[in-house]
Amino acid sequence: MDQPATPLEHIRARIAQAARIAGREEASVELVAISKTHPAEAIAPLIAQGQRVFGENRVQEAEAKWPALLEEHPEVRLHLVGQLQSNKAEEALGLFHSIHSLDRPSLVAALGKAMDKTGRRVPCFVQVNIGAEDQKGGCAIAEVPALLASAREAQIPVAGLMCVPPLGIEAAPFFALLAKIAGDNGLDQLSMGMSEDFETAVMLGATHVRVGSALFGARG
Ligand SMILES: *Cc1c(COP(=O)(O)O)cnc(C)c1O
Repeated sequence: MDQPATPLEHIRARIAQAARIAGREEASVELVAISKTHPAEAIAPLIAQGQRVFGENRVQEAEAKWPALLEEHPEVRLHLVGQLQSNKAEEALGLFHSIHSLDRPSLVAALGKAMDKTGRRVPCFVQVNIGAEDQKGGCAIAEVPALLASAREAQIPVAGLMCVPPLGIEAAPFFALLAKIAGDNGLDQLSMGMSEDFETAVMLGATHVRVGSALFGARG
């Protein structure tokens, strides 16, 4: 087998192989390159290699580095994968093409209002606290149906569910559980899987994998 030349090619090849094993189309998996903490100079080469979807976890950091990149590369899509404060909802809509961290009623209200005001209705993922961890963001599993209902009422386009499983324990059962909750609620997109476990996520139905360090190297 040929050795892939770049980290991006390597990750793409691994996604393709996992999709093949799962009997899925490679194109059904979107690679979201998580560029948080990395400067524009580290991002530009990936865009040059054809990567089109990127993710950041902080609005402020993204505002500092992305407007210039997006102006130069209007085909690029930017996803917010980190916690969003309600008072930054409108700001976030000004920059991001998708939001993966819709996780509480107050944010549904703020985002719905901001969408009404700006007319920008970007696809959102409801983030689920899949491991029921006290310290972690995300909606409790039991509260998912109610949060989805209020999001629909606020005319927020909900694409699917997102999770960050507990650290240091096999992720597969959590991915499978997220897929089941999505199915139970009639949603077909799943944002799950990071550098350590994206192949497992693809095999369990991920439509969006969020890969940072495996593409960019370790964060400083
Ligand atoms: C940082 C981050 C990622 C990427 O993590 P890596 O382990 O570097 O691939 C994915 N999702 C979220 C929500 C993150 O904050």
